[in-house]
Amino acid sequence: MALELPTSLSPSKVSTFTDCALAFRFSSIDRLAEPPSAPATKGTLVHAALELLFCLPAAERTVPAALTALDQAMDSLRDDPDFTGLELDAAAEAKFLDDAERLVRRYFDLEDPTTITPIGLELKLEATVGDLRLRGIIDRLELDADGGLVVTDYKTGRVPMQNHEQGKLGGVHFYALLCERLFGQRPAKVQLLYLSEPLAIITVPTEQSIRGLERKVTAIWSAVERACAAEDFRPKPSRLCDWCAFQAYCPAFGGNPDDAKAPLADLVASPG
Ligand code: SF4
Repeated sequence: MALELPTSLSPSKVSTFTDCALAFRFSSIDRLAEPPSAPATKGTLVHAALELLFCLPAAERTVPAALTALDQAMDSLRDDPDFTGLELDAAAEAKFLDDAERLVRRYFDLEDPTTITPIGLELKLEATVGDLRLRGIIDRLELDADGGLVVTDYKTGRVPMQNHEQGKLGGVHFYALLCERLFGQRPAKVQLLYLSEPLAIITVPTEQSIRGLERKVTAIWSAVERACAAEDFRPKPSRLCDWCAFQAYCPAFGGNPDDAKAPLADLVASPG
């Protein structure tokens, strides 16, 4: 029996399928829960703080205001399972908050937020390419001085090695494609702001880059359809396995993908 197709593709799903088809199946088809991770939750916190900062009038977007926004975002996050599930002790929580503050402060080394004219924050976009539904969330959409659209994506992880840079930009071209489809206008610029360095990776989407991305997601969707029909999602071991939450079900680590349909707790604690 064929596996059920996912309802859409997003930049993270494209990236997961490209990195390892089996991990894609576990997350997007079996929809296995992944435990919270400190880097991901920290990223959520910093994104929320910058969103709050850009809700302020331009002249008020200062470093102290950003730190107040960080406190507010942390208050909202404190009871969230993505934070409580980390089970941080006092020292680990202090480091978590210090790291988040450092990322927020470094944002100001990349640009002056008082000069930005946002027209959308955490924008959920959806468009279709053929039968395929594409979905993405744009951290910030703004207008440049000439009225062109600028897409900004904040990154709280490490800057990619040069040979992975285009792969990371693929996500931003994905957003450019969504903008073009929905607003009828190709963005003038797309940028990844790596807060940890800090470093901005900027690109100008072209007809060629957007059509290339369209071809890529169409090809990936066809591969997903074939894999679902044949129930054939293969593991692709790499250094990413070290962070994979699905090792228990992965043949590369002695697991059985079919066990993913049963909760892990049932496998390790059989009754009686
Ligand atoms: S452990 Fe590695 S090979 Fe297995 S599913 Fe995860 S990423 Fe893929």
